[in-house]
Amino acid sequence: MEKRDYYEVLGVPKDADEKQIKSAFRKLAKQYHPDVNKAPDAAEKFKEAQEAYAVLSDADKRHQYDQFGHAAFDQMNGGAGYDFSDFDFSDIFSEIFGGGFGFGGSSFGGSSFNGRGGSRRRKGADKLMRVTLTFEEAVFGTKKTINVPVAADCPECDGHGGSGLKTCSTCHGSGVVTTEQRTLFGTFASRTTCPDCNGEGSAYERVCSKCHGKGKITKNTDIEVKVPAGVDNGNQLRVPGKGEAGSNGGSNGDLYLEFYVKEHELFMRDGDDIYLEIPITITDAVLGCKKDIPTLYGNVKLTIPAGSESGDKHRLKGKGIENVRSGIKGNMYVILRIIVPKKLSHEQKKLFEKLQDTDLESGSEFKKIKDYVRKNA
Ligand SMILES: [Zn+2]
Ligand SMILES: [Zn+2]
Repeated sequence: MEKRDYYEVLGVPKDADEKQIKSAFRKLAKQYHPDVNKAPDAAEKFKEAQEAYAVLSDADKRHQYDQFGHAAFDQMNGGAGYDFSDFDFSDIFSEIFGGGFGFGGSSFGGSSFNGRGGSRRRKGADKLMRVTLTFEEAVFGTKKTINVPVAADCPECDGHGGSGLKTCSTCHGSGVVTTEQRTLFGTFASRTTCPDCNGEGSAYERVCSKCHGKGKITKNTDIEVKVPAGVDNGNQLRVPGKGEAGSNGGSNGDLYLEFYVKEHELFMRDGDDIYLEIPITITDAVLGCKKDIPTLYGNVKLTIPAGSESGDKHRLKGKGIENVRSGIKGNMYVILRIIVPKKLSHEQKKLFEKLQDTDLESGSEFKKIKDYVRKNA
């Protein structure tokens, strides 16, 4: 079954704002939640809405989706769409269903209630990398192996950061230290995070020397990335979990690949359209001709009519680039450029001179100037 467009799933326009998206999801969640709706397709519909909301309610992910469609999330989930199992729906569900709403052991993901207060878990920062593509790679899509430094558990300390956990002697386990500041107006006490244990309240007796207590090291790793057909300069693709390491068990940040597309020796690209300038001779322009034209999809024969001019544009429908989102192909435009010969053979010169003796100035373009010159004489 064809995967439905996320906007269509939620029933909102492409330019819907946060509020519209939220209220559309709220309506669907109320309607299809399997605890409420026992219809056989309710669970599927509910999941579909969850997935759409997880993407469209997040500005970054929405931007990705707007650029690439479902291909934006094909990297990690085997083409199954956006994996929303990490998405925290607790806020919106408690809004819809009231405070203590639980899932009663329902079988769908995306409903974890963890990370609510107390935890110092932090997601790692996102990372941006530039990837250069040839013109063809961008047009037809490709698989790229990219070497990136990815955060991994330190093998020396198994990701713990050290050994011999003990209460921090600086803050005595409270995680905060109080410092006094004397000013003109008196003495102020301020509480700050303990610098020795970073607010943890405990520290390792022996800090791992390999990772300096972070528990993570960066390791250069080859990752394979599927570049969808039709990407253009500046498009960014998100690769989840390949950014900076998270702290205290938080997930890794994401890696964003920004594409830089090299120029083609012949073709010029403008969005999904291709432009190609082709030189033609003066006689071909005057008499017309048939020309073999290279396109992205092999050569085609183009009929150039008699009386063509420099700058004339011919459209080759569907010979452009497949749109990365819709899959619809753009057009190719062939632009004629008449080349005036600079060097002539003896015979050619004779022929041109013969032509010059005939009247080629019968057009109205010539008449206007001629009349003016006569008046001006
Ligand atoms: Zn401390
Ligand atoms: Zn270590």
